[in-house]
Amino acid sequence: MHEQSIVTYLLSEAVSKAGKEKASRILSIKLVVGELTGIEKDSVIFYFGFLSKKTIAEGATLEFEYTKAQLRCRECDIIFPKDRSDFICPKCNKKVVEIVGGRELYIESMEVI
Ligand SMILES: [Zn+2]
Repeated sequence: MHEQSIVTYLLSEAVSKAGKEKASRILSIKLVVGELTGIEKDSVIFYFGFLSKKTIAEGATLEFEYTKAQLRCRECDIIFPKDRSDFICPKCNKKVVEIVGGRELYIESMEVI
């Protein structure tokens, strides 16, 4: 994942949302980040500080909420959190799982004035 392009995208989303609300400034942005995105918080903060200059989001604080990866077993049809490093179903011990969560990345909410 390239944080710079992600931040560019999130920033344009945030600015357009704020524009619809006729806000003059963005104070904070709460992001939901799936753990499988591999996005580094520090890089996001770094690029955000740099890319948001001279926009209404300049100086906004970023909050991060991480979501756990979720896997679904095709055999048993159960959904379970990925809390081990492997991709094995805890019920049938087969490796027939698919990823159903943990790749999300979106703006949950924003504080604007
Ligand atoms: Zn299973």
